Amino acid sequence: MTTKSVSSRRGLMLVMSSPSGAGKTTLSRRLLESDSSVVMSVSATTREPRPGEENGKDYFFVTHERFREMIDHGELLEHAVVFENRYGTPRGPVMQALNEGKDVLFDIDWQGTQQLAESAGDDLVRVFILPPSVAELENRLRKRAQDPENVVQKRMAEAESEISHWAEYDYVLVNDDLEDTFERLQVIIKAERERRRRRPGLSEFVRKLMDERPKNK
Ligand code: 5GP
Repeated sequence: MTTKSVSSRRGLMLVMSSPSGAGKTTLSRRLLESDSSVVMSVSATTREPRPGEENGKDYFFVTHERFREMIDHGELLEHAVVFENRYGTPRGPVMQALNEGKDVLFDIDWQGTQQLAESAGDDLVRVFILPPSVAELENRLRKRAQDPENVVQKRMAEAESEISHWAEYDYVLVNDDLEDTFERLQVIIKAERERRRRRPGLSEFVRKLMDERPKNK
């Protein structure tokens, strides 16, 4: 038995949800930069790209027809309407990453999280990010300055609805200090990776361990 097989594990499906502006995107970026076993699930969406967004990196920007086709062909793990646009998680890349022992990070809303909870079960770890205050949330949304005022106002209203689902998550982080929140996120991931059910090599390891006991006592 090698140490490698003891440490081999099933990948996590790590969902991060929050209202827009709570810092989720920054936390995701930090996590992806610092941990090479985490890969991002790139969603498909029917919304228009924002300035600077890249097709295939930030999202797969698709037409309504293509999105419908993805649903009909079972290509999406989950999908939902958010701010009048459609968003969904392509199934193939997620399955491939998990099979390779990678952890997959999902930036999806509460509707998608509920759907994943039904299909993914034990693999799922749900983290909800809260802003320290409503004023700070609005401030962060305005600073982004990429959305017109009516969109900012709409997103503030949507924030309330997103936050109402906080109790459906396994972990809730109040993002008052980015460094501190990021550290807490890393601790959650480290602990979740150690869970017994994610470590198929453990039983074989323990069996061998017991076999190695001196038998003449
Ligand atoms: P944005 O348009 O600001 O990039 O994203 C708007 C919202 O859609 C965010 O709350 C984000 O988490 C959610 N979202 C992005 N991709 C998906 C997805 O594939 N599925 C679901 N259910 N929500 C998504």
